[in-house]
Amino acid sequence: MRELLVKYIEEVNAFVAADASEAEQFRLKFLSKKGILAGLFAEFKDVPPDQKKEVGAMLNELKNALHQKVEEMKQSFEQAEKPAHEGTDLTRPVDNFEPGSRHPLSIVRNEIIRIFSRIGFSVAEDREIEDDWHNFSALNFPEEHPARDMQDTFFIEKDPDILLRTHTSSVQIRVMEKMKPPIRMIFPGRVFRNEVISARAHCIFHQVEGLYVDKNVSFADLKQTLLFFAREMFGEKTQIRLRPSYFPFTEPSGEMDISCNICGGKGCNICKYTGWVEILGCGMVDPSVFENCGIDSNEYTGFAFGMGIERVAMLKYQVHDLRLFFENDLRFLKQFAGSV
Ligand SMILES: [Zn+2]
Repeated sequence: MRELLVKYIEEVNAFVAADASEAEQFRLKFLSKKGILAGLFAEFKDVPPDQKKEVGAMLNELKNALHQKVEEMKQSFEQAEKPAHEGTDLTRPVDNFEPGSRHPLSIVRNEIIRIFSRIGFSVAEDREIEDDWHNFSALNFPEEHPARDMQDTFFIEKDPDILLRTHTSSVQIRVMEKMKPPIRMIFPGRVFRNEVISARAHCIFHQVEGLYVDKNVSFADLKQTLLFFAREMFGEKTQIRLRPSYFPFTEPSGEMDISCNICGGKGCNICKYTGWVEILGCGMVDPSVFENCGIDSNEYTGFAFGMGIERVAMLKYQVHDLRLFFENDLRFLKQFAGSV
């Protein structure tokens, strides 16, 4: 009986119930009328007299351990059943919840995507670390072009050249290599140039470029697409004008101005009293760029354009310092909380 008692005492002390019903089963097993404890007390009368003192003490020890265990379990399961908010003061004022808002560059980016998606442009994105072919060579940049210099571009490796892309035109090349025309896509993304950071320039900025390739795409299509964009973005009274320009990858190339939406064309310090502000570069895709991507330039023509998202956001929201977009100053960012 001594061995049995030692075993039960150990069992009781080690017992952990997973839930209330397990605790109840444990209680019944030991403490019910026909349970183990009652049985042991019944057997106690048969214990030889010289062992009665020792066995009696062990029996009491088991009994006390059992009652203590059952009481502990009862308390812990009762507590768990109480509702979680008991003891919490529900009249206490809550902590202020401050909803976040979109960054102005995300707002403008989404707006540009929305406008072009309405006329059938889909979105493509690709890597920010590029090779020379996709960033320069396929786009007709000559070997001696200043953009291929360390002064202007962040190179990661030389020979073969691996660099942080200087424009999202690299995505245009990757798309044209893979897809057959018609292609009608825009390419938003982050680009990198080795610029001194100032109110008007940063070493990181964001672009959205666009590309339309099909049979019989003309400059008139380009102009009408950009006019639609300008009016959707800056208001329906917005005028555009195109000035001749040069890019290695388009021919002819142009810069597009929009009529100043601040002064309505009368002249102010934003438009430097000209009534016009420059907004993007564009042109007809150079046939050699098509050939570099395996597209027959006799069969297809196309136009491309590109703009800086920061530039559009500065004009749209009249922000005068580009650095504000990158400083994460809540006093600045909160001003866009009402925009979606
Ligand atoms: Zn103006």
